[in-house]
Amino acid sequence: MNNTFTSLLHRSDGPLTCELLREPGNFGLGQVPVQMKPDATTDMVCGYCSTGCSLRIHRRDGAATSLTPNTEYPVNLGMACPKGWEALTVLDSPDRATTPLLRDETGRRVPVDWDRAMQAFTERFKTIQAEHGQHSVAFLGTGQIATEEMAFLGALTKFGMGLLHGDGNTRQCMATSVVAYKQAFGFDAPPYTYSDFEESDVIVLIGSNLCITHPIMWERVMRNPHSPEIVVVDPRLTETGVNATQHVALSPKSDLTLLYGIARILIENGWIDTDYITAHTNGFDEFAEYVIQFTDDCVTAETGLLRSQIHRLAATIHHGKRVSFWWTMGVNQSHQGVRTAQAIINLALMTGNMGRPGTGANSITGQCNAMGSRLFSNTTSLLGGHDFTNAQHREKIAGILGIDPELVPRRNSLPYHKIMEGILSGRIRGLWVVCTNPAHSWINQSQCRDILERLDFLVVQDMYANTETAQMADLILPAAGWGEKEGTFVNSERRIAVIRKVAQAPGLVLSDFNIFKLVAHYWGCADMFEHWQSPQDVFQLLKKCSAGQPCDFTGVEDYEFLNLHGGVQWPCRDATAADLQERRLFEDGRYYHSDGRARFVFEDPRPLTERPNDNFPFILLTGRGTASQWHTQTRTRNSAVLRKLYPKDIFVEINPGDARQLQIGPDDKAVVESQRGRVLARAVLTHAVQPGQVFIPMHYQAANQLTDAVFDPHSGQPSYKACAVRIARN
Ligand code: SF4
Repeated sequence: MNNTFTSLLHRSDGPLTCELLREPGNFGLGQVPVQMKPDATTDMVCGYCSTGCSLRIHRRDGAATSLTPNTEYPVNLGMACPKGWEALTVLDSPDRATTPLLRDETGRRVPVDWDRAMQAFTERFKTIQAEHGQHSVAFLGTGQIATEEMAFLGALTKFGMGLLHGDGNTRQCMATSVVAYKQAFGFDAPPYTYSDFEESDVIVLIGSNLCITHPIMWERVMRNPHSPEIVVVDPRLTETGVNATQHVALSPKSDLTLLYGIARILIENGWIDTDYITAHTNGFDEFAEYVIQFTDDCVTAETGLLRSQIHRLAATIHHGKRVSFWWTMGVNQSHQGVRTAQAIINLALMTGNMGRPGTGANSITGQCNAMGSRLFSNTTSLLGGHDFTNAQHREKIAGILGIDPELVPRRNSLPYHKIMEGILSGRIRGLWVVCTNPAHSWINQSQCRDILERLDFLVVQDMYANTETAQMADLILPAAGWGEKEGTFVNSERRIAVIRKVAQAPGLVLSDFNIFKLVAHYWGCADMFEHWQSPQDVFQLLKKCSAGQPCDFTGVEDYEFLNLHGGVQWPCRDATAADLQERRLFEDGRYYHSDGRARFVFEDPRPLTERPNDNFPFILLTGRGTASQWHTQTRTRNSAVLRKLYPKDIFVEINPGDARQLQIGPDDKAVVESQRGRVLARAVLTHAVQPGQVFIPMHYQAANQLTDAVFDPHSGQPSYKACAVRIARN
């Protein structure tokens, strides 16, 4: 063992021993756990997207050598996308952070041992708290680490370190759906199961390029034996749009008006399920009255669609016997995302397309464990989908954890963008960023970097020391990645499944779980977490936190149980029910509001904050580029195979008619400018984008130099998808 680490383990001023860091199957140092046979296979879910495919890892002499998709798993049925196939490769990359790095007085970052790193962490953050108040330190978490780890981070910071403000990068992708579901259903509860893709006769995809973003879900659509009508509502002719039976190419961000117009047509024609509405919902009469104003003229003017297109879509929904509605970031990342998501929910409720096979108002999540974060990260909700502002909930969770209820904050955290504002105003001076990369992914990059530079102390905990955010950090804590630790993820369809340690993390790298243990020890609150010895311990605590909630999974015994059953979708209150491989919500028509009814929620559409104008006449759309790229590319760029599958440099898609007018040819360098930034990009001429619109994939850091810091007023989610730009040949 490394000498530095050995000395750390034998510090004389505290009980920091090997035992502190030891977890069965999750050492973060040393060898692959002894209970695993050296030559064998291990099944675990993928660590990229929310589909949650199971991968079978093959090991020889204790080392993971290759993988194959699991043919027996109910999610992916033997399939994987390129990222999944390359999941092991990216662990072994030269730019891994292998030791803590601390910025010295000259500004250089120098390697230090964990003892020095932890002393700096606690001294600097405690000093900031002493000088600027308890809440002047905040954290930003992630949907990429295990549920047990994010619960540990949330509990450690809020109960142990006394922080109030902490949010996750899930704010960037799923906050809109969370709020939409809570208000409409009474709980954050995506109702579907993946077999619904195969059971529908009409599949309506709104703001979702499923082919690219969730390729295995798209494969499930392709297996649908009912020759389904596939409707894609998207301004761009995406890969999914090309394969649709109807592409509804509406103007950017006019979806709310379109959906209200469709509702009006359905109501006028009597194409609604009155029995379902009466038995299971509230607020329909007010909604029906409200949507009368969304006439054909109003909708065609706002959306740019033909009257025939709008009526065809309404008729398609009417004629479907099992209609499923799906949405992703095209809806969520909007200045009016929550109401748009609820307009989709309204269509499903009024047509009775809920709770039956092939139906549902279904938000598709982004990150591998965004669903775990939504309920168990202790950020927007108290552990288990509870409410920080509810005294009974605080008592319950404190009782389960064996802590004083007074340690549980009575207030909610600021959301991500308000934390950024807090840094800007000087109220927040210290920030701990765990497994996310805001200096690339946060909206309006120039402003974001300016904000991060104002911090007195920035700690980044990540697999890599060279992410855009890590490069700004004062302290880097090197963390293990997927495949180097254990825990659970929750996928888009609420399926809880296991990740395992099958590879040795390099150097001094520790699992996030062990890093949190170290922080608890150095901060002086380790006693509070004496029952949090291993991820499996925390899993048992989280089960108790979920008891009585819609997400109750008290019927799940342990990790082995999850593996045995091919993952388990919540709710699962009874172990004997775990055999059910596909489980959808609301089959009995009862929702989670106290009266058991769903709500119709609606509001006037809001104008785009930045419309095209004489100076900036184009609308910039952003989105995922290829199935081989993941978010800010910190991992996918480390696979030689994946790098061959996507363009290395930033490009901009332009309609050929616009390009002709601007005298921009294929592969010319084009300058794209917004009020906030200027980007040089290779021009790709394609009819996939409509005249007056351009598209840049989100994976390139420069994309967010252009985007505008606009947020949904209900969810605080950034609106990445539409801002005004101009474009010219370089
Ligand atoms: S679809 Fe998602 S979960 Fe499945 S292999 Fe690809 S990245 Fe992994």
